Amino acid sequence: MIIDAHCHIWDETLINGDFSKLIDGVIKKLKCPDPKYISDGSVERLLREMDEAGIDKTVILGLDGDFLFRSTISYKFYNDFVADILKNYPDKFIGFAGIDPRRGKEAIMELERCVEELGFGGVKFWTLTGFYPDDKKFYPFYERVEELNVPILVHTGLGPQYTYLKYCQPIYVDTIAVDFPDINFIMAHMGDPFTNQALAVAGKNPNVYIDISAWEPVFKFSPPAFVQTLYQAKMTCGIEKILFGSDWPLFTHILSQQDWVKAIKKLKIPPPLRLMGITEFTEEEKTAILGNNAAKILGL
Ligand SMILES: [Zn+2]
Repeated sequence: MIIDAHCHIWDETLINGDFSKLIDGVIKKLKCPDPKYISDGSVERLLREMDEAGIDKTVILGLDGDFLFRSTISYKFYNDFVADILKNYPDKFIGFAGIDPRRGKEAIMELERCVEELGFGGVKFWTLTGFYPDDKKFYPFYERVEELNVPILVHTGLGPQYTYLKYCQPIYVDTIAVDFPDINFIMAHMGDPFTNQALAVAGKNPNVYIDISAWEPVFKFSPPAFVQTLYQAKMTCGIEKILFGSDWPLFTHILSQQDWVKAIKKLKIPPPLRLMGITEFTEEEKTAILGNNAAKILGL
Protein backbone atom coordinates (compact mmCIF):
# COMPACT_ATOMS: atom_id res chain seq x y z
CA MET A 1 0.00 0.00 0.00
CA ILE A 2 1.29 3.45 -0.91
CA ILE A 3 0.50 6.22 1.57
CA ASP A 4 1.30 9.91 1.23
CA ALA A 5 1.68 10.99 4.86
CA HIS A 6 1.73 14.74 4.27
CA CYS A 7 -0.67 16.63 1.99
CA HIS A 8 -2.60 19.87 1.99
CA ILE A 9 -5.98 20.72 0.63
CA TRP A 10 -7.45 24.15 -0.05
CA ASP A 11 -9.68 26.24 -2.25
CA GLU A 12 -10.51 29.95 -2.73
CA THR A 13 -12.49 30.05 0.52
CA LEU A 14 -9.53 28.87 2.55
CA ILE A 15 -6.90 30.93 0.72
CA ASN A 16 -7.87 34.37 1.93
CA GLY A 17 -6.47 37.19 4.06
CA ASP A 18 -2.90 36.63 5.25
CA PHE A 19 -3.01 33.03 4.06
CA SER A 20 -3.21 34.18 0.44
CA LYS A 21 -0.16 36.38 1.07
CA LEU A 22 1.63 33.29 2.33
CA ILE A 23 0.66 31.22 -0.73
CA ASP A 24 1.70 34.06 -3.09
CA GLY A 25 5.08 34.17 -1.33
CA VAL A 26 5.54 30.42 -1.86
CA ILE A 27 4.61 30.72 -5.55
CA LYS A 28 7.30 33.39 -5.97
CA LYS A 29 9.94 31.66 -3.86
CA LEU A 30 9.52 28.32 -5.66
CA LYS A 31 9.47 30.08 -9.05
CA CYS A 32 6.23 28.34 -9.95
CA PRO A 33 5.56 28.97 -13.67
CA ASP A 34 1.78 28.70 -13.30
CA PRO A 35 0.32 29.69 -9.90
CA LYS A 36 -2.37 27.04 -10.34
CA TYR A 37 0.14 24.28 -9.51
CA ILE A 38 0.15 25.65 -5.97
CA SER A 39 -3.16 27.45 -5.60
CA ASP A 40 -5.26 24.52 -6.89
CA GLY A 41 -5.47 22.29 -3.85
CA SER A 42 -8.78 20.72 -4.79
CA VAL A 43 -9.75 17.21 -3.84
CA GLU A 44 -10.63 16.39 -7.46
CA ARG A 45 -7.10 17.19 -8.57
CA LEU A 46 -5.57 15.33 -5.64
CA LEU A 47 -7.60 12.20 -6.40
CA ARG A 48 -6.54 12.35 -10.04
CA GLU A 49 -2.85 12.67 -9.18
CA MET A 50 -3.06 9.97 -6.50
CA ASP A 51 -4.54 7.71 -9.12
CA GLU A 52 -1.78 8.46 -11.64
CA ALA A 53 0.86 7.83 -9.00
CA GLY A 54 -0.75 4.69 -7.59
CA ILE A 55 -1.14 6.25 -4.14
CA ASP A 56 -3.78 4.36 -2.16
CA LYS A 57 -4.28 6.72 0.76
CA THR A 58 -3.32 10.26 1.64
CA VAL A 59 -3.11 12.13 4.92
CA ILE A 60 -4.71 15.56 4.55
CA LEU A 61 -3.86 18.21 7.08
CA GLY A 62 -6.03 20.89 8.59
CA LEU A 63 -4.14 24.09 9.39
CA ASP A 64 -4.66 26.28 12.42
CA GLY A 65 -2.89 29.51 11.56
CA ASP A 66 -5.24 31.83 13.43
CA PHE A 67 -2.62 33.00 15.95
CA LEU A 68 -0.44 34.46 13.19
CA PHE A 69 -2.60 34.99 10.11
CA ARG A 70 -5.65 37.18 9.79
CA SER A 71 -8.36 35.38 7.92
CA THR A 72 -12.11 35.45 7.50
CA ILE A 73 -12.38 31.74 8.25
CA SER A 74 -11.46 29.98 11.47
CA TYR A 75 -9.44 26.85 12.19
CA LYS A 76 -12.70 25.00 12.87
CA PHE A 77 -13.91 25.90 9.40
CA TYR A 78 -10.67 24.38 8.03
CA ASN A 79 -11.16 21.20 10.05
CA ASP A 80 -14.77 20.98 8.86
CA PHE A 81 -13.55 21.40 5.29
CA VAL A 82 -11.26 18.38 5.78
CA ALA A 83 -14.04 16.46 7.56
CA ASP A 84 -16.33 16.83 4.54
CA ILE A 85 -13.69 15.22 2.34
CA LEU A 86 -13.25 12.37 4.83
CA LYS A 87 -17.00 11.79 4.73
CA ASN A 88 -17.08 11.70 0.93
CA TYR A 89 -13.97 9.55 0.47
CA PRO A 90 -13.52 7.46 3.61
CA ASP A 91 -11.25 4.94 1.86
CA LYS A 92 -8.91 7.50 0.33
CA PHE A 93 -8.11 9.97 3.08
CA ILE A 94 -6.99 10.20 6.67
CA GLY A 95 -7.52 13.61 8.27
CA PHE A 96 -5.22 15.32 10.74
CA ALA A 97 -6.91 18.13 12.64
CA GLY A 98 -5.23 21.51 12.60
CA ILE A 99 -5.16 22.58 16.26
CA ASP A 100 -2.97 25.15 17.98
CA PRO A 101 -2.38 23.94 21.56
CA ARG A 102 -2.23 27.56 22.78
CA ARG A 103 -6.02 27.45 22.71
CA GLY A 104 -5.92 25.57 26.03
CA LYS A 105 -9.25 23.92 26.95
CA GLU A 106 -10.69 24.85 23.58
CA ALA A 107 -7.88 22.89 21.90
CA ILE A 108 -8.86 19.79 23.85
CA MET A 109 -12.51 20.26 22.92
CA GLU A 110 -11.62 20.58 19.24
CA LEU A 111 -9.40 17.50 19.50
CA GLU A 112 -12.30 15.50 20.91
CA ARG A 113 -14.71 16.85 18.30
CA CYS A 114 -12.37 16.01 15.44
CA VAL A 115 -11.28 12.56 16.60
CA GLU A 116 -14.42 11.28 18.29
CA GLU A 117 -17.13 12.89 16.16
CA LEU A 118 -15.52 13.55 12.78
CA GLY A 119 -13.21 10.53 12.52
CA PHE A 120 -9.86 12.31 12.24
CA GLY A 121 -6.81 10.09 12.61
CA GLY A 122 -4.27 12.56 13.97
CA VAL A 123 -3.32 16.13 14.82
CA LYS A 124 -1.23 18.64 12.89
CA PHE A 125 0.84 21.26 14.71
CA TRP A 126 1.83 24.31 12.71
CA THR A 127 4.68 25.42 14.98
CA LEU A 128 5.82 28.06 12.47
CA THR A 129 2.96 30.27 13.66
CA GLY A 130 4.89 30.76 16.88
CA PHE A 131 4.91 28.12 19.61
CA TYR A 132 7.35 25.61 21.08
CA PRO A 133 5.60 22.23 21.20
CA ASP A 134 7.29 21.29 24.49
CA ASP A 135 5.61 24.04 26.54
CA LYS A 136 4.40 22.46 29.82
CA LYS A 137 1.10 24.32 29.45
CA PHE A 138 0.24 21.93 26.63
CA TYR A 139 0.66 18.77 28.71
CA PRO A 140 -3.09 18.35 29.41
CA PHE A 141 -3.59 18.40 25.62
CA TYR A 142 -0.98 15.66 25.21
CA GLU A 143 -2.61 13.59 27.95
CA ARG A 144 -5.85 13.64 25.97
CA VAL A 145 -4.03 12.83 22.72
CA GLU A 146 -2.46 9.85 24.48
CA GLU A 147 -5.89 8.63 25.59
CA LEU A 148 -7.34 9.05 22.12
CA ASN A 149 -4.34 7.21 20.70
CA VAL A 150 -3.64 9.37 17.63
CA PRO A 151 -0.30 10.59 16.24
CA ILE A 152 0.79 14.23 16.03
CA LEU A 153 2.49 15.57 12.94
CA VAL A 154 4.70 18.48 13.95
CA HIS A 155 5.97 20.96 11.40
CA THR A 156 9.77 21.03 11.68
CA GLY A 157 12.25 22.85 9.47
CA LEU A 158 11.93 25.66 6.99
CA GLY A 159 8.60 27.39 6.42
CA PRO A 160 7.48 30.14 4.07
CA GLN A 161 8.12 33.85 4.40
CA TYR A 162 6.05 35.54 7.16
CA THR A 163 6.52 32.56 9.51
CA TYR A 164 8.84 31.97 12.48
CA LEU A 165 11.74 29.56 12.12
CA LYS A 166 13.05 29.26 15.68
CA TYR A 167 10.03 27.23 16.88
CA CYS A 168 10.53 24.71 14.10
CA GLN A 169 13.67 23.02 15.38
CA PRO A 170 13.27 19.28 15.86
CA ILE A 171 14.89 19.40 19.30
CA TYR A 172 11.61 20.74 20.75
CA VAL A 173 9.95 17.46 19.89
CA ASP A 174 12.46 15.53 21.99
CA THR A 175 11.08 16.58 25.41
CA ILE A 176 7.47 15.67 24.60
CA ALA A 177 8.56 12.42 22.95
CA VAL A 178 10.29 11.44 26.20
CA ASP A 179 7.43 12.62 28.44
CA PHE A 180 4.71 11.01 26.29
CA PRO A 181 6.20 7.73 25.09
CA ASP A 182 2.79 6.45 23.99
CA ILE A 183 2.22 9.25 21.48
CA ASN A 184 3.75 8.84 18.02
CA PHE A 185 5.21 12.08 16.70
CA ILE A 186 5.96 12.62 13.02
CA MET A 187 8.44 15.38 12.23
CA ALA A 188 7.65 16.93 8.86
CA HIS A 189 10.23 17.41 6.10
CA MET A 190 12.95 15.46 7.97
CA GLY A 191 13.39 18.82 9.73
CA ASP A 192 15.13 20.30 6.69
CA PRO A 193 17.51 22.18 7.05
CA PHE A 194 17.83 20.97 10.67
CA THR A 195 18.09 17.45 9.31
CA ASN A 196 20.85 16.23 11.58
CA GLN A 197 18.86 17.36 14.60
CA ALA A 198 15.73 15.64 13.27
CA LEU A 199 17.61 12.38 12.70
CA ALA A 200 19.08 12.57 16.20
CA VAL A 201 15.62 13.03 17.77
CA ALA A 202 14.00 10.31 15.65
CA GLY A 203 16.96 8.00 16.16
CA LYS A 204 16.88 8.26 19.94
CA ASN A 205 13.11 8.07 20.53
CA PRO A 206 11.19 4.97 19.46
CA ASN A 207 8.01 7.08 19.09
CA VAL A 208 9.40 9.72 16.72
CA TYR A 209 9.15 9.44 12.92
CA ILE A 210 10.14 11.64 9.99
CA ASP A 211 8.44 12.34 6.67
CA ILE A 212 10.27 13.11 3.44
CA SER A 213 7.80 15.72 2.17
CA ALA A 214 9.27 18.83 0.51
CA TRP A 215 12.42 16.92 -0.52
CA GLU A 216 11.23 16.71 -4.15
CA PRO A 217 13.47 19.62 -5.28
CA VAL A 218 16.54 18.00 -3.73
CA PHE A 219 15.77 14.75 -5.53
CA LYS A 220 15.05 16.56 -8.82
CA PHE A 221 18.15 18.75 -8.84
CA SER A 222 20.62 16.52 -7.00
CA PRO A 223 19.54 12.88 -6.70
CA PRO A 224 22.80 11.87 -4.94
CA ALA A 225 22.24 14.50 -2.22
CA PHE A 226 18.74 13.12 -1.61
CA VAL A 227 19.88 9.50 -1.62
CA GLN A 228 22.70 10.26 0.79
CA THR A 229 20.32 11.93 3.28
CA LEU A 230 17.83 9.10 2.99
CA TYR A 231 20.59 6.59 3.64
CA GLN A 232 21.77 8.62 6.63
CA ALA A 233 18.17 8.59 7.92
CA LYS A 234 18.01 4.82 7.54
CA MET A 235 21.29 4.33 9.39
CA THR A 236 20.52 6.80 12.20
CA CYS A 237 16.82 6.17 12.76
CA GLY A 238 16.05 2.81 11.17
CA ILE A 239 14.07 2.28 7.98
CA GLU A 240 10.81 1.95 9.98
CA LYS A 241 10.99 5.63 10.92
CA ILE A 242 10.86 7.04 7.39
CA LEU A 243 7.49 7.98 5.87
CA PHE A 244 6.75 8.90 2.29
CA GLY A 245 5.14 12.35 1.95
CA SER A 246 4.87 15.09 -0.64
CA ASP A 247 3.53 18.35 0.83
CA TRP A 248 1.15 18.34 -2.16
CA PRO A 249 0.42 20.62 -4.03
CA LEU A 250 3.44 22.80 -3.19
CA PHE A 251 6.10 21.02 -5.26
CA THR A 252 4.02 19.60 -8.10
CA HIS A 253 5.54 22.01 -10.64
CA ILE A 254 8.95 20.53 -9.81
CA LEU A 255 8.00 16.88 -9.52
CA SER A 256 4.65 15.17 -10.04
CA GLN A 257 3.20 12.78 -7.47
CA GLN A 258 3.81 10.02 -9.99
CA ASP A 259 7.51 10.87 -10.35
CA TRP A 260 7.95 11.25 -6.59
CA VAL A 261 6.60 7.75 -6.02
CA LYS A 262 8.80 6.50 -8.83
CA ALA A 263 11.82 8.18 -7.23
CA ILE A 264 11.48 5.88 -4.21
CA LYS A 265 10.41 2.78 -6.16
CA LYS A 266 13.41 3.04 -8.48
CA LEU A 267 15.86 4.41 -5.94
CA LYS A 268 19.42 3.57 -7.01
CA ILE A 269 22.68 4.37 -5.31
CA PRO A 270 24.83 6.41 -7.73
CA PRO A 271 28.37 5.03 -8.34
CA PRO A 272 30.25 7.73 -6.32
CA LEU A 273 28.10 6.94 -3.27
CA ARG A 274 28.67 3.22 -3.75
CA LEU A 275 32.39 3.95 -3.53
CA MET A 276 31.66 5.59 -0.17
CA GLY A 277 30.18 2.31 1.05
CA ILE A 278 26.51 3.26 0.68
CA THR A 279 24.49 0.19 -0.22
CA GLU A 280 21.23 -0.22 -2.17
CA PHE A 281 17.84 0.00 -0.48
CA THR A 282 16.08 -3.36 -0.65
CA GLU A 283 12.60 -3.71 -2.18
CA GLU A 284 11.27 -4.35 1.31
CA GLU A 285 12.81 -1.12 2.57
CA LYS A 286 11.30 0.86 -0.29
CA THR A 287 7.87 -0.64 0.43
CA ALA A 288 8.29 0.29 4.09
CA ILE A 289 9.02 3.93 3.22
CA LEU A 290 6.23 4.13 0.63
CA GLY A 291 3.48 3.02 2.96
CA ASN A 292 4.01 0.11 5.33
CA ASN A 293 5.56 2.33 8.01
CA ALA A 294 2.74 4.88 7.81
CA ALA A 295 0.12 2.12 7.84
CA LYS A 296 1.39 0.95 11.24
CA ILE A 297 1.35 4.44 12.78
CA LEU A 298 -2.08 5.21 11.34
CA GLY A 299 -3.43 1.87 12.54
CA LEU A 300 -4.48 0.73 9.06
ZN1 LIG B 1 3.11 20.83 4.72
